Amino acid sequence: MPANAARKLDADVSEITAFRRDYEERQAELAEEIAIDAVDTELFSDKAAADAASAKADAKSVAADRRAQALAQGYTGNMCGECQNFTMVRNGTCEKCNTCGATSGCS
Ligand SMILES: [Zn+2]
Repeated sequence: MPANAARKLDADVSEITAFRRDYEERQAELAEEIAIDAVDTELFSDKAAADAASAKADAKSVAADRRAQALAQGYTGNMCGECQNFTMVRNGTCEKCNTCGATSGCS
């Protein structure tokens, strides 16, 4: 093998090694980016879940407050299916809404 051919081979090998190192570095960067994305997604969904849970709890406590208030004012404490007010009063065997006049089942 001529000497210059061997030198050329050396150069090719070091080029390949350099390429391989770049590729491995790029791969590591990509893996990091993917890991960061995964964390972001996790945080987002946790936050969304927490927001939804607290909104649900708020709605529940508002409904409970309104029900307690309705009971204190002499209403049955049930919610009207028509107008969603807690203003149902006893009407025979049924309940009647004091706000809109709807009845619970029997008309
Ligand atoms: Zn009503």
